[in-house]
Formats: sequence, C-alpha cells, structure tokens
Amino acid sequence: MPEGDTIYRTARTLQKALGGKVVTAFETGLAKLAAVDDESRVVGRTVERVEARGKWCLIFFSGDLILVTHMLMSGSWHIYRVGERWKLPRRMMRVVVRVSEASVFPTHARKDAHEWATQSWGEFEAVLFNAQVAEFHTARSLERSSQVPKLGLDVLSEGFSVEGGVRALRERAASHPEDEVGVVLLNQRVMAGLGNVYKSEVAFAAGVNPFRAMRTITEREMEALVEAARRYMTANVVEGTSEQMVTYTGPRRTTRAMDHGARLWVYRRQGQECRRCGAAILMRKQGVQVRSTYWCPVCQPWVAG
Ligand SMILES: [Zn+2]
Repeated sequence: MPEGDTIYRTARTLQKALGGKVVTAFETGLAKLAAVDDESRVVGRTVERVEARGKWCLIFFSGDLILVTHMLMSGSWHIYRVGERWKLPRRMMRVVVRVSEASVFPTHARKDAHEWATQSWGEFEAVLFNAQVAEFHTARSLERSSQVPKLGLDVLSEGFSVEGGVRALRERAASHPEDEVGVVLLNQRVMAGLGNVYKSEVAFAAGVNPFRAMRTITEREMEALVEAARRYMTANVVEGTSEQMVTYTGPRRTTRAMDHGARLWVYRRQGQECRRCGAAILMRKQGVQVRSTYWCPVCQPWVAG
C-alpha cells in the first residue's frame, strides 16, 4: 500500500497539472461515477484544488463536487499530455480528467519552436488506473460518509503541530488504553499519513517498543513519536525524487547500490544487527490487520506498565 507521503506527492503533482484549470473532458469506466456525471456534468467545472488526506486523494471541482479516490494496493494516478501514450493498458483505466490551460495564447513575445511546442501541450489528462474506490461527493456527503474515514490531523498538513499530534495520542490512550502503539500509529483517525514502513521507523526513532499499550506511553515518548513522524514524512516528501524512503543516513558500510532496507533503521531488517546497538532486529505481525512490525529489543525495551 502506498505510504501517506506517496499519496501526498501524487496530490501535489495533480494539483500542479490540474489546479485552477477547466475540465474539457471526463471519462470513466465506473457506473456510479458515470451516473453522477450524467446528472451534473464534470466538464466545464474548474479544478479548485487537490488534497491528500492520509491514503485518500480528493479532487475538488467548482460547484461542490469532490472526486474521492483511495489508492489501496494497486491504484495510481498518472499525468499525461493529451496524445501521449499511457504506461498502463486502457482496460485498467477508471477515470480520465482532461483539462486545458486557462490561457491558450502566449502572454509573452517569444515564439520560437520550443515555445509553440510547449503551447500545443497545453492539455493534460490525469488518468486513474486500477483504483477500487472512486466516488463523487459533495462537501456535505463527504462529511457524513462512513466509508471515507474522518481523518486525524494530517502529519503533512501545514496546520500540523507536535502539540496537536501529542494531544491526539493522549486522547487515544485515554479512550483505548490497551491499544498497542504500533497499531495506533497506523490508525488514520488518530494521525493521518503514516504507513507500515514509517510505523516501525518512527517507533525506533522514539525508542518505543511498538507492542507497548498506550497507557504505558509517557508524554515525552509521545512527543518523540510525533516529532519523528513529522520529521521522516516531511524529509521524504521534500526529497520527492524517489519512491524510496530514507530514515537512516548514517555511515554506510555497503556499496552505493543499496537495497530498500539499507536506507532504513529496522524495517525489513529482521535478524540483522541494530545500527545503534548491534542487537538482532526482530519482527512480529501486529494487530487485526497483521501488519509486519520491526523493532530492536534493546533500543526499544518492553515496558509492561
Ligand atoms: Zn538497538
């Protein structure tokens, strides 16, 4: 499943390509979306903004229409210039949103070949492939929807603060004291954005055993968890050029060609030496979703409370 920062990057790219532009064509293979489009046409609306909320990507059209998509395992949004060949077969297409530049004519004087070529590429299409969840909402139905979770404070949003994140964890500890912290870090209703890789990395950075109950987590540990979450997510969004996540940037003993685990502290490193203390990293499945959780038994000691 894509991590929150991947969805965030997707939303940012969609925002750049579609934001402020007018929809010139809308196409879908999904009956429910097509029915809504029949009733209240998407064509002619302006894309007001594109937003990531945890694992969800929301496209806001003018006139109170919101396209809500969940990426799940295999869903993805691609951006193409109109006429460009798609990288995935057409049968995997679920939605196409085509937009046109607001201004068709160049506002400046230079009219060399390159300029004209660029100009003729003024139309973009955003293509959603393979997503299993895609639906239209109004602001009101989105608010009421039980399927689209009411997300917690998004780790990557501008309004995010450490105090806000700590408050969310503290509230969860009060209402669900036996919840394991590794499960809570993945719970998008508490804090939105963290995926399974970051869950283990963040718990390691905070020195917190991911299987501890929330009632045993101190205020300082909550702060450390929230700070690490913010730091890792932000760093990986800013880097932006690669899908690879990086939390470990210490001296590298290996060659330049590195596998995924070589850039992380604990994730997928079970049996290998802890980069901090040398103990063997452990792995265990966790929660009702049986997600793999990695930790160092020395750096992240067990506390029964
Ligand atoms: Zn260790």
